[in-house]
Amino acid sequence: MNSAKNIIGRYAPSPSGILHLGNMATSLLTWLDAKSAGGSIVLRMEDLDPERSSDAFAARIARDLKYLGLDWDIGYPQDEYSQSKRTALYEAAFDILMRRDMLYPCYCSRSERLAASAPHPGEQHRDPGCKCRHLSRLEREELDARGRKPAWKVKVPDKRIYFVDGHYGKFEENLADGGDFIVKRSDGVFAYQLAVSFDDMDMGINRVVRGRDLLSSTVRQIWLISELGGSPPEYCHAPLLISGEKKMSKRSGELNMEHLAAKFAPEELIGYIARLLGLSDGSPITANELLRNFSWDKVHKDDIII
Ligand code: GLU
Repeated sequence: MNSAKNIIGRYAPSPSGILHLGNMATSLLTWLDAKSAGGSIVLRMEDLDPERSSDAFAARIARDLKYLGLDWDIGYPQDEYSQSKRTALYEAAFDILMRRDMLYPCYCSRSERLAASAPHPGEQHRDPGCKCRHLSRLEREELDARGRKPAWKVKVPDKRIYFVDGHYGKFEENLADGGDFIVKRSDGVFAYQLAVSFDDMDMGINRVVRGRDLLSSTVRQIWLISELGGSPPEYCHAPLLISGEKKMSKRSGELNMEHLAAKFAPEELIGYIARLLGLSDGSPITANELLRNFSWDKVHKDDIII
């Protein structure tokens, strides 16, 4: 890693539930990645979707990260680090794309409810394509007059995006394979892809550590950040923790901090997660003690079945 660069990483939890073991593992890696390079960490709450997020979960997540010894340097609870308070900034980014004729209204988006959240497995927002990109002005006006509220999609070009992931190596995908994607829902809520791209750029994030299920979102974000005039961070994706054949989710409730913190001390939890990731033998240990021997080379690449 380039030690001359001042690393700024981030935790970007969605406060739609309590941290589970998978979130804890990615948070530990975020912390180790930044701190082993002498960098700092931002805590940003990704609470875009008012129906899925709550202040109580946000407070609980912050408390649980601290309990685990995974601190941060700046961010939550300051207002400007909660996405729900950053609408005016997203509006400005949206306007830039609009002025450049990169957006169009979509009246038929079936996946739009999910667009405010990061697409995890089973929720890939792979757009099959619809007619809305090619509606005439008159057709749009007719739909508007009938009271139809459109979502807004960005037109993606037929363009291959290439990046070198810090853990998985070269990754390449054509933007057109994923299709046009939603940047604003019809109820006015900004979509995850726009908000996360803008925020990583605006907050000066230069290292993103997150689950590898977001690898294909990464090409969209690299492209969007470049279109908005920024330079994309480096990305380091992490293996997923799989329980009962599927990736854990905050909504599923099992193996989350509510149950784990009642039974185990922070060092036991960090020791257990570190063993799952390939970083230690499982004995109780603090995040700080793990720093000494931390290396991405030790972290498994295959998903981890627990
Ligand atoms: N807010 C997302 C989540 O909790 C993370 C998105 C990201 O790291 O880009 O799954």
